[in-house]
Amino acid sequence: MIGVVDQTGGGSYRVRLEDGLVVEASLRGRLKVGGAKKERVVIGDRVSLEQSGEGWAIEGVEQRTTELVRRSRSKRVHKVLAANLDRSFMVVAAKDPQANPELVDRLLLLGESSRIKPTLVINKVDLPGAGEVAEPLKNLYESIGYLVLLVSAAAGVGVDRLEEELCSGTSTLIGPSGVGKSSLLNAIDPELELRTGELSRKGGTGRHTTVNARIISLNCGGFVADTPGFGDIAFAGIPPSELDHCFPEFREHLALCRFRGCSHVSEPDCGVQAAVEKGVIPTTRFRSYLKAHSEAADLSYYG
Ligand code: GDP
Ligand code: ZN
Repeated sequence: MIGVVDQTGGGSYRVRLEDGLVVEASLRGRLKVGGAKKERVVIGDRVSLEQSGEGWAIEGVEQRTTELVRRSRSKRVHKVLAANLDRSFMVVAAKDPQANPELVDRLLLLGESSRIKPTLVINKVDLPGAGEVAEPLKNLYESIGYLVLLVSAAAGVGVDRLEEELCSGTSTLIGPSGVGKSSLLNAIDPELELRTGELSRKGGTGRHTTVNARIISLNCGGFVADTPGFGDIAFAGIPPSELDHCFPEFREHLALCRFRGCSHVSEPDCGVQAAVEKGVIPTTRFRSYLKAHSEAADLSYYG
């Protein structure tokens, strides 16, 4: 039997089988070798199962197409949160908390470096003054080629459009807590009844509550991976040489760099730096690149 892991937590795995049946499964002994830290099985993994006694056992894990990895600045370990995601929806708020280009760039870069196609979602456009924040961000990121959706979970603005985008494949909503990710999913599908507000993801003290990662099925047929919050996104351990390709608007200028493997930080005759000087590449984007580059090069984070 083949299935997709739907929920994990407390050493147990819920698997959606190909015929739609959902079963609880445990891990076959040899999959545990290497310890829990290796995260042998995460939500989104395609696994093979065998019936064993009265239950099911996961026998094998298929190669992943993508991995969503949490690299934090405060912790050394990298954690794989979900496998095989098709798209990521990076959610920020126009106000309360107010988004800025640095945050947006971090989120987009997370998607790009994980090769999970990112879309930018700017929520809370109903709040006073939201347009002054949301419109410039929309213009900036659309000019780079990203799909940008302005939405309001509270006022129902843009929710249909977001739903449309979420209705095929497996996606995830990523963003700091409080931007309205749960509210947006509830607006799309009120039956989900996800908890919203400050305490929703903390689960009380957060110490002995098992954080369940899970995949939610939407009425329209799409799947959404519900992953824990992303307050702190770092890039330590990403090969710095891969970073320039994570900034789509840099790509056409790379051929103009004099040196192969140019880092675009201090080399002469650099196509990227020239484009920044001409105003073709936005300065906020180049600043984010430089930050990501210095973090990515930090090998001490390798766990
Ligand atoms: P999450 O942590 O990203 O899942 O955010 P929540 O969905 O829990 O929402 C955080 C807070 O923002 C809650 O108090 C929501 O009621 C509020 N909120 C969510 N969406 C909107 C919106 O579109 N407009 C306004 N004004 N408030 C919103
Ligand atoms: Zn260069």
